[in-house]
Amino acid sequence: QIMIVNKDYFGSYSSFGIHKEMISDKVRTDAYRQAIVDNPSLVKGAVVLDVGCGTGILSLFAAQGGASVVNAVEASDKMAAVATQVAKDNGLLWNEASNGSTKQKRGVIKVINSMVEDVIESGQIKPQSVDVLVSEWMGYCLLYETMLSSVLVARDHWLKPGGAMLPDTATMFVAGFGKGATSIPFWENVYGFNMSSIGKELVKDAAHIPIVDVVDGNNLVTNTALLQAFDLTTMKPDEVDFTASVQLQQKSTNSTEVESTKCYGVVLWFETAFTSRFCKEAPTVLSTSPYTPPTHWSQTLLTLTEPISLSSKTLTSKSCSMVGSEVNPAVKIDARISIARGVEHRSIDISLEVTAI
Ligand code: SAH
Repeated sequence: QIMIVNKDYFGSYSSFGIHKEMISDKVRTDAYRQAIVDNPSLVKGAVVLDVGCGTGILSLFAAQGGASVVNAVEASDKMAAVATQVAKDNGLLWNEASNGSTKQKRGVIKVINSMVEDVIESGQIKPQSVDVLVSEWMGYCLLYETMLSSVLVARDHWLKPGGAMLPDTATMFVAGFGKGATSIPFWENVYGFNMSSIGKELVKDAAHIPIVDVVDGNNLVTNTALLQAFDLTTMKPDEVDFTASVQLQQKSTNSTEVESTKCYGVVLWFETAFTSRFCKEAPTVLSTSPYTPPTHWSQTLLTLTEPISLSSKTLTSKSCSMVGSEVNPAVKIDARISIARGVEHRSIDISLEVTAI
């Protein structure tokens, strides 16, 4: 179980390693760049707010895209200082001193070293003055990092009516995975020896613990079901707590498999989209699906205590809820994921039952 407690949260973001990892994730960074730079009808001349600017990369894109002002808010002292230096080094830092005849070329990026929540109180940004709110707030399994609540607070205070959210939708998906996504095949043949007892042990241990790992789409044994869809322009902060019900059926396959396919657990992933609602010229989707190139988010696996045979069966989730809560290990269910990052604990309860079709 991965736990990052709140007091370490901004500390963890002040290490350059994580920022290098995020920036090097081309799927992620290119999606944001396309949304910000390739949609001039949205960004040219706009007042932009970058919630959690980190190194300032998204603010730099916004400046490149022709924004008139970019408010870059960052809670980590170290990263705010870095973003300031980087904006300056690229001639893009806002310069207050441009009075009288000594008219200097002005940059557009204003770095504000603060939690967004505190900027509201300081009044540094006028309410309802922002045309475009951009933020990269997504965590493992989308909600592992609950920075989303800060983004929604910022939206409600600063975004103009009808203003743009980048991204503007977020969708969670679930599918069943087979043996190939577990460590069982690895231990079945170790230099010709059978070590499958280790694999079995590991799979048993993995039950009730979320694993962040890359899953190959070939190892999924069911269809993909939509777990939850969020509209970032309208969603309320409490909507991150949800209960959904999904049905998973064996994936249709051309191969004539003798053995019935077994489902060892479910894998969760998400997509965020920059839709044509705001991105008229170049809408784009940032996908963390097992069927598309991997990102630094990988996927999140929940292993079942016992694999389920799938042939002509439907897996129906009785309850599939994701709620902000304290971890309660007393609850006995098939798969439980308890994840925490940022300010809140979140847990996903998924209980699958098998019904014949
Ligand atoms: N925008 C950058 C960094 C994304 S990581 C990029 O795309 O590369 C998220 C950043 O948001 C971190 O640097 C973290 O310190 C900051 N952050 C998280 N919650 C915040 C809040 N409530 N107020 C201000 N900054 C926040």
